[in-house]
Amino acid sequence: MEITAVEPVHLRVPIVDAIPDGTLDVLVVLIHTDEGITGIGEVTSQSYVCKACFDAPRSAARRHGLTSILLGEDPLDIERLWQKMYYETNRYGRRGAAIHAISGADIALWDIVGKHQGRPVYELLGGAHRTTVRAYASVLFGDTPDDTAALAREFVDMGLTAAKFGWGPFGQDADTDVAHVQAARKVLGDTRELMVDAGHAWQIETAIERAKLLAPFNIAWLEEPLSQDDRKGYAQLCRNSPVPIAAGEGDVTHWDFEDLIDRGLHVVQPDVAFCGGLTVCRRVSEMCQANDRRAVPHCFSTGINLAASLHWMASIPDGDLVEYCLRPSPLMRKLVKNLPPLIDGRVPVPDGPGLGIELDEDVIEQFRVR
Ligand code: MG
Repeated sequence: MEITAVEPVHLRVPIVDAIPDGTLDVLVVLIHTDEGITGIGEVTSQSYVCKACFDAPRSAARRHGLTSILLGEDPLDIERLWQKMYYETNRYGRRGAAIHAISGADIALWDIVGKHQGRPVYELLGGAHRTTVRAYASVLFGDTPDDTAALAREFVDMGLTAAKFGWGPFGQDADTDVAHVQAARKVLGDTRELMVDAGHAWQIETAIERAKLLAPFNIAWLEEPLSQDDRKGYAQLCRNSPVPIAAGEGDVTHWDFEDLIDRGLHVVQPDVAFCGGLTVCRRVSEMCQANDRRAVPHCFSTGINLAASLHWMASIPDGDLVEYCLRPSPLMRKLVKNLPPLIDGRVPVPDGPGLGIELDEDVIEQFRVR
């Protein structure tokens, strides 16, 4: 089989507010082949920049555009193509937009291989450990503890068994933080998981103090308490925290995650449409299994990212958790025609060939940036 065209499709809703919402402006990647199979992928990053990473023409060595690297190649040769994309972009890539863009191509290649073999991607990644994955929803903390409690109530009523609260008023002072977490825990009860995303709020000393203060509320993990670049801080925190520490939504390549695991992170959170794709995620979960850590996907964009994350989680023994985005954007709700639904707190893993998803051409037409 041969790649005949690579089509980065930029989709954007009319009004994109500067809020932490990855469902407003996305880059879909379609890879076409001479056998009529088209692979679907997604990039969740700066869409204009990542589209340019595909469209850029060939240049001097190791600074080519991704489309020129992929054209004419055999799409079934995923591992070699990942290495080729990474190496031939490394003068401008390695850790920025180029690796985010590679994620979209890599997901599309896995989709092609699955469609070609008539098998779902989770089988290619290592087999089926489950047919549904438990979902957690994430939301900003409410303005007041009562507001946070009301949000927790909505999650309980939806049937969710795990919820994450973050950012907003959290992180400013200890009493406020405890009041919000206490309010959420009270509504969620003892049986549901509660996660807290601190949104890079603290320096190391405060992070250790707060982790100890929050420990009585039995939180499943404390996410990104420190700056993403404070690697020494994370190592110190992981040694001293009574609650599991999570990070990694901003990290890319298996080398970054190897570093986080070496520094003691308990939970790592690659975003498959950002970190380098399913090829990277598979390596990360192998490292997690070898080191007794947990990988849980960061997933807050379209149903393409959700489907890829579900396949990944279905393929690993302890993969029973996925982030489920509840934002109302049509790029989340409608782009994938057969969007995996939330049913009693769980999400079915698509079982058609490849990713098992179908895109809505009308949605693409309506939101395409030209
Ligand atoms: Mg986060």
